[in-house]
Amino acid sequence: MSGKIKKIAVLTSGGDAPGMNAAIRAVVRTCAYYKVEILGVYRGYQGMIEEDFVELNARSVRDTINKGGTFLKSARSKDFKTKEGRKKAYENLKKHNVDALVVIGGDGSFTGALLFNQEHNFPVMGIPGTIDNDIYGTTYTLGYDTALNTAVEAIDKIRDTASSHNRMFFIEVMGRDAGFIALNTGIGGGAERILIPEENTPVEELLQDLEEGHAKGKTSNIIVVAEGDKSGKNVFQLKEYVEQKHPEYDIRVSVLGHMQRGGAPSCYDRVLATRMGVKAVESLLDGKSNYMVGINNDRMDLVPLEKAIKGGEGDKIDKDLIRIAEIMSV
Ligand code: ADP
Repeated sequence: MSGKIKKIAVLTSGGDAPGMNAAIRAVVRTCAYYKVEILGVYRGYQGMIEEDFVELNARSVRDTINKGGTFLKSARSKDFKTKEGRKKAYENLKKHNVDALVVIGGDGSFTGALLFNQEHNFPVMGIPGTIDNDIYGTTYTLGYDTALNTAVEAIDKIRDTASSHNRMFFIEVMGRDAGFIALNTGIGGGAERILIPEENTPVEELLQDLEEGHAKGKTSNIIVVAEGDKSGKNVFQLKEYVEQKHPEYDIRVSVLGHMQRGGAPSCYDRVLATRMGVKAVESLLDGKSNYMVGINNDRMDLVPLEKAIKGGEGDKIDKDLIRIAEIMSV
């Protein structure tokens, strides 16, 4: 381990996700283990610009592994998108003798981290924290597993009422650009149809499927829709469209919304966060920079930040899951 890094700062940025606290805890405890000082930054990059810091130690993160959200708070910072903002942030870190930075966030946060490194030659390491799982170079992001469990639990409850009343439900789950949550909770929740941004499903096709299902004797239906699906209609418009054609269907809409971001992290997310936190600190101490810690084939991996941001592997969605969902809705 290099002796150059004596103090590390950690922040959470962008959309919050369950497991962020567990990741902060792992970063803090790993620093304590290696006798490296650790500074917490409140409110992401904005806190770095405004010098909103807190000295942390192994005990400051007690009782956090099981908590949703992030005790360091997250924020979006317009100022950090400017050169002056990033310079101010750099000066503040230097003032507090910080030698390296761990950023827990999504691709926007990683873009900021990379610029920060390029402009100030400051070591940075990313940990992917987003429920959407839309980051390249890692099979899972922090919070995704918890969000899946939260959403599938909600779908189960809706199914109870849907089948009691022979109703059709359009359930909107999160995922503006990625259909991971929709596809997996759709399969796990036994949905009849799943609409995701990666697939173009014309509304006519959806209607036809529903009509066929009706003819086959399906009495209730769950249709899971990702926020960013390509039908061109949101869940309320979809409901109206189907209702106009079939006034006899009893259709309801449920938007799961921000509940998917909250809650105690699943065991998987806690373990993943802990592994990623340890790897992030050890990699910085090894002299590495500009990487994101990822998980691939159940092993910790270092992925260049640039690759994590830009992708390059094409669509991360497993097409076979789409096929499987289709088979299940026979
Ligand atoms: P996420 O990290 O979840 O993708 P955002 O896209 O909102 O969330 O990014 C979080 C923060 O990262 C932004 O508020 C901004 O401070 C910083 N950031 C995002 N994009 C850039 C950029 N192009 N240049 C500098 N900073 C950026």
